[in-house]
Amino acid sequence: MFKAILINKQDGAYSARLADVNETDLPDAPVTVRIEYSTVNYKDGLAITGKSPVVRKFPMVPGIDFAGVVESSTSAAWRAGDRVLLNGWGVGETHWGGLAQKARVNAEWLQRIPDRFTSRQVMAIGTAGYTASLCVDALIRNGVKPEMGEVLVTGASGGVGSVAIALLAKAGFAVVASTGKPAEAAYLQALGARQVIDRNEFSQPGKPLQKERWAAVVDSVGSHTLANACAQTRYRGTVAACGLAQGMDFPTSVAPFILRGVSLLGIDSVMAPQAVREPAWGRLARDLDAAALESMSRVIGLADTLGAANDILSGAIRGRVVVDVNR
Ligand code: NDP
Repeated sequence: MFKAILINKQDGAYSARLADVNETDLPDAPVTVRIEYSTVNYKDGLAITGKSPVVRKFPMVPGIDFAGVVESSTSAAWRAGDRVLLNGWGVGETHWGGLAQKARVNAEWLQRIPDRFTSRQVMAIGTAGYTASLCVDALIRNGVKPEMGEVLVTGASGGVGSVAIALLAKAGFAVVASTGKPAEAAYLQALGARQVIDRNEFSQPGKPLQKERWAAVVDSVGSHTLANACAQTRYRGTVAACGLAQGMDFPTSVAPFILRGVSLLGIDSVMAPQAVREPAWGRLARDLDAAALESMSRVIGLADTLGAANDILSGAIRGRVVVDVNR
């Protein structure tokens, strides 16, 4: 038996609880992993509370990411004792996930934990941090350079935002952090933000073209915030869009794209190929300062994830929540 968060839907009633699960109930897959740490991502919040139809099979163990040690493998790619991490691939949505002491997964979904990191550190980064790195890689691939001007990070105090600030600052960009938590200004500046601004500047409907300011944007908020960020992006600037914390809508016009040549890059972490994942984790291993990572994360136990799920959806969490599944 092992402990897991178990989501069920019976006769229309949605529930999530800490449960003892039989190992024989694990899904059929070649690699069994003894999980050490998982996390609470925004999507896990949606899955645990049932606020969005993230879970598509029941019963389901949520948790879109985990880090641990291979216990056994029938795949030649992994051996018992290998240190591995997993982000996405539908784990925690259609395949049992990381908020558990064990998982059984496909070999090609796993990555080796970079030597520099412990399993707790890679989960302090988690899917949010890896997605932030995907955003930074995408901006740079699209030609954005520090001398082009300021880069806006929205949802700044969240998981994606915190890591994006740290990575962009390390790469030499002048980062402006947009937040709804003015009390976190010192935290955001310590991560590398040059300026902290109020997210209310972006959250209401705005004109389709506004005064040009941003060379680039990392947006994890969507809705009016993304629309206003695009409307303020400079000629030939680039916007990386990865999230929907304000909403899934995108109420704007084509004006920034056809009149200012703004590029809007969509970022998906779930099905991203390994060729994109590896450089993203490479950037994190190279550029993310251990002290910054410590400042943006805290550790909770498996049972605490039920409460943390509500907190992340209400935007109340700073940085990243790591789950010690054995606590
Ligand atoms: P967090 O909850 O940690 O951060 C989101 C932040 O957005 C909050 O901390 C808050 O920051 C801000 N925010 C929350 N609600 C609102 C609102 N109503 N209006 C404006 N800003 C708001 O989540 P993550 O960083 O983990 O994820 C952020 C988004 O990115 C989520 O939508 C998530 O689903 C998505 N995501 C997408 C991935 C992909 O593959 N595309 C992968 C990972 C995440 P502040 O208080 O500083 O303003």
